[in-house]
Amino acid sequence: MHDLVIRGGTIVDGSGGVPFIGDIAIDGDRISGVGRVDARGRSEIDATGRIVAPGFVDIHTHYDGQATWDAEMAPSSWHGVTTVVMGNCGVGFAPARPDRHDWLIALMEGVEDIPGTALAEGLTWDWETFPQYLDALEKLPRAVDVGTHVPHGAVRAYVMGERGARNEEPTETDIAAMSKIVEEGLRAGALGFSTSRTVLHRSVDGELVPGTTATRDELIGIGRAMGRVGHGVFEMASDMRREWHEFEWMGALSRETGLPVTFAALQSIAKELTLDEQIAAMAAENANGAHIVAQIALRGNGIVMAWRGTVHPFRFKPAWTAIEALPWAEQLARLRDPAFRARMIDEASIYPDSDLIGLLQIITDGWVTQYEMDDGFNYEPTAAESVAARAAAKGVSGAAYAYDLMMAGDGTGFIYFPILNYADGNLDFLAALQARADTVNSLSDGGAHCGTICDAASPTFMLEHWVRDRVRGRISLASAIKRQCRDTALLYGLADRGLLAPGMLADVNVIDLDRLKLGKPWLAFDLPAGGKRLLQRADGYDVTIKSGRVTFRAGVFTGETPGGVIRGPQRAALREAAE
Ligand SMILES: [Zn+2]
Repeated sequence: MHDLVIRGGTIVDGSGGVPFIGDIAIDGDRISGVGRVDARGRSEIDATGRIVAPGFVDIHTHYDGQATWDAEMAPSSWHGVTTVVMGNCGVGFAPARPDRHDWLIALMEGVEDIPGTALAEGLTWDWETFPQYLDALEKLPRAVDVGTHVPHGAVRAYVMGERGARNEEPTETDIAAMSKIVEEGLRAGALGFSTSRTVLHRSVDGELVPGTTATRDELIGIGRAMGRVGHGVFEMASDMRREWHEFEWMGALSRETGLPVTFAALQSIAKELTLDEQIAAMAAENANGAHIVAQIALRGNGIVMAWRGTVHPFRFKPAWTAIEALPWAEQLARLRDPAFRARMIDEASIYPDSDLIGLLQIITDGWVTQYEMDDGFNYEPTAAESVAARAAAKGVSGAAYAYDLMMAGDGTGFIYFPILNYADGNLDFLAALQARADTVNSLSDGGAHCGTICDAASPTFMLEHWVRDRVRGRISLASAIKRQCRDTALLYGLADRGLLAPGMLADVNVIDLDRLKLGKPWLAFDLPAGGKRLLQRADGYDVTIKSGRVTFRAGVFTGETPGGVIRGPQRAALREAAE
């Protein structure tokens, strides 16, 4: 008798091998049998006609705040994700001196668009050091496992105070102190260290993330601390400026420590090296003994624009500024007024003083790169679906069309603006990247960009679009599952998951692939203090199982909380004990 048996599904085990029909037996939190299972289960799930796959492992999220107050970890957990890694891109909440709390919140709000009011109300701050933060995380019940990086921004501000926050150069003593904190964090169970080197990442006050301009000495110095511990991933988002020679130091660091270095690989206006150049430079270093891994998104990183979102095309119009602070009901009344509409459409945007002015102009006038998010919307839209094309077909201006489409559904309409990864007007380049062993599925940014982006549904998009529906070329189910489960898990040293095999953690999805469908995103106002976030559900997830317990049934949280905090080396010990 087993605790649970999943019967007769198409098993896509995460190894990349050919899917097969079979059963899965689960006892306790582990898989105890795969293939033909004769013994009955105390409970059984009929998976006939369904895909049975490992729980998804999402390595690029920003749930650092949410993880301290929320057990459910939506929206990632609604999309088959059973493990999240957070603390990416150099931002997070530990270590934190008591007088830096507001500053860390402003940094997270600016970089990741997580409402500061929600963070201020939600965060309990019953920690100062990084190990204390892990202990605090451990106190909360949770539906998924969470792992984390030690974030450079927090470490720098902790050690260097104002000098660190202002991106001044560290002394040797500073670097030694930062290294010590990183080492301590990794020994307590952090899965890596993260840093930000992009001008797109700023606090709400416009300050760059501490560490953005860090020199090779600082990065390598901290990286060596990871080498001393012997585990951990060095994660980075960078503008890839030519004079920085990023791949040279990434290669040197990974060769010296034997640890992986991973970076956000995107088509981006902020990056100096093109994506092709980034991949070529990585491949050259890897051919020379380095271990660099490119994190790729599976679609355009799309800003969802709406009246109540963080960004929309009219944001810099004086008419909008005049109503910006009003409650939504009053804003809506004004937006419905034909005279107000005419004024908003006609008047010119007044941009703030910014070195990102080109980007602001695409937000306000880039109708060819903005798309109507209607009910049949797909995330690889053609030029004919652009606001520009639809406005022309209707004989109205782009601005008028955009205004009216955001007014749909009582002012809840959306415009999709793939700000990154959509320079070609299609996703063809991602097909080749998904075939490479030195790339990993990533960049969902779960928990972040609450009022702008909803890419946490990335695993669902992968199956729906890349595996099932895409007309310009698809990828195989076995490869997709391996990439979202085993490959992501192994990059972070989580050898106990991402694979359906005896002894592995019983993290399992039962999916009706024919019925799998992303729902329309919506803006919820359910964060602490009524903070907003974009959410998106999906049809087609019959059951999600975490550590042997059913956490989601038909997309609804069962209240089971078998998840916990992943502590790198401790999990390794657990694994050995199981073998
Ligand atoms: Zn990030």
